[in-house]
Amino acid sequence: MVGAGLSGAVIGRRLAEQGHKITVMDGRPHIGGNCHTERDTETGVLVHLYGPHIFHTDDEEVWAYVNRFATFRPYKNRVKTTTRGAVYSLPINLHTINQFFGQTLRPEEARRFIEAKADTTISDPQTFEEQALRFVGRDLYEAFFQGYTIKQWGCSPTELPASILKRLPVRFNYDDNYFFHRFQGMPEEGYTAMIARILDHPNITVHLEATVTRDRAAAFDHVFYSGPIDGWFDFRLGRLGYRTLDFERFSHKGDWQGCAVMNYGDVDVPWTRITEHKHFAPWESHDGSVLYREYSRACGPDDIPYYPIRQVAEKSLLAEYVALARAEENVTFTGRLGTYRYLDMDVTIREALDCAAAYLRAVGDGGAM
Ligand code: FAD
Ligand code: UDP
Repeated sequence: MVGAGLSGAVIGRRLAEQGHKITVMDGRPHIGGNCHTERDTETGVLVHLYGPHIFHTDDEEVWAYVNRFATFRPYKNRVKTTTRGAVYSLPINLHTINQFFGQTLRPEEARRFIEAKADTTISDPQTFEEQALRFVGRDLYEAFFQGYTIKQWGCSPTELPASILKRLPVRFNYDDNYFFHRFQGMPEEGYTAMIARILDHPNITVHLEATVTRDRAAAFDHVFYSGPIDGWFDFRLGRLGYRTLDFERFSHKGDWQGCAVMNYGDVDVPWTRITEHKHFAPWESHDGSVLYREYSRACGPDDIPYYPIRQVAEKSLLAEYVALARAEENVTFTGRLGTYRYLDMDVTIREALDCAAAYLRAVGDGGAM
C-alpha cells in the first residue's frame, strides 16, 4: 500500500481483515496523509496541519465505517468571509444578501431580487464566472468569488470550469451550514487517531519516511498506489498541474477571530483564509490559540500537491498517464493523487471500500463488505 492516507488505510484494512498481509509505506513522518491532525506543541490545540477538514456525507455505510473507528462530535461548518471591510456569512444565504444590499428581504423576495440581478442571457454556464453571473449576479460575484478565486487558483475565473462553483450552495433562508449532507461531524481525537485505528490490525505493518518508487514496488504481489499518478512514471510525459498551499502559523492568547474559518475575498489581501483551529473542537478548552494563514500558489517539484488544476491541457496529459497506468500490471491507482481528482474524505473512503471489494472479487476472495 503506497500512502498512509485514508485511501491506503481503508483499502489496507479491508484486505487485512480478509487475511492478506499488508505493508503500508508513506514518505512522510506521519500517517493520515492530508487529513493529518496533531497537537500544537505551544497551545495543545489539535491542528489540521494540511488545511481545515470537516467530515460530511450522505453515504450511510461510510458514516457507519468512520464511526467504527472514531467518536464523532456534531460539527457544522459555518464559514465567514471578510470582503470590502465587512464580515459576511457564507455560503451566500439570506443574511449575506440582506446585509450586503442593506435589505430586509424575506426568502421569496430575496429570490426575486437576486434573479433580477442575475445575467439570464447566459443559458448554459460553462465557466466559473458565467456560473456566478448567472446565479448570483455581478455584485455578489465580485465581492465574494472573483478575488478569492484568483488567489486560490492563480488564474481568471473565466478560465475555470463552472463545476468548481457548483460545489457551493446559495440559500434563500438563514441556514449558514456550508454543507448539505445528512451526516456531518468531527472526530473527537482528530483524523490521525481515527486512521491509526483503521491501520491497527495484526496483518498491517506501517513504514514511515519510506518513499516508494516503481522499482521498489516490484517486490510486492500487488501495489495500491495513492501517490501522484505522474510521479509513478517519473513524470516522463510532463507534470500534471497542482496548486500547493503555504501555511503561516501564529498564536494568540484567547480567541483571535471567533470562528474556525475566515475567508478573505479581496484580491489585495494575499492569503485566502485564516483558520483558528481550536474552534474545530469546541468541547476542548484552551487558553491559547493557534492560527494558520493560508496562501495558495503554483505547485513546484518539491511542494506538496493539494488541488488538481484539471484544465484542458492537464486533462489530455492525464489521459496519457491513465493509458500508461492501465498497461501497468499488479498496480491499482487510487485516491486523490492516484486518480488526479478533488475527492472529499467520504468519497475517498467510498472508493477505497469499493476498490478493496473489487480486488477481493478478482482474486476470488469474496469481497462482501
Ligand atoms: P492523501 O491524503 O494525499 O494521502 C496520500 C499519501 O500518500 C500521503 O501521505 C503521501 O505522503 C503518500 N505518498 C505519495 N506518494 C508516495 C510515494 N511515492 N511513496 C510513499 N508515500 C507516498 N475533504 C473533506 O471531506 N472535507 C474537508 O473539509 C476537506 N478539506 C480539505 C482541505 C484541503 C486544503 C485539501 C487539500 C483537501 C481537503 N479535503 C477535504 C480532501 C481530503 O484531504 C482527501 O479526501 C483525502 O486526504 C484523500 O486521501 P488520500 O489517501 O487519497 O490522499
Ligand atoms: N470560493 C470563493 N470564495 C469563497 C469560498 C470559495 O470564491 O469565499 C470559490 C473558490 O474558487 C473555491 C470554490 O469556490 O475553490 C469552491 O469552494 P470550496 O469551499 O469547495 O473550496 P475548496 O474546497 O476548493 O477550498
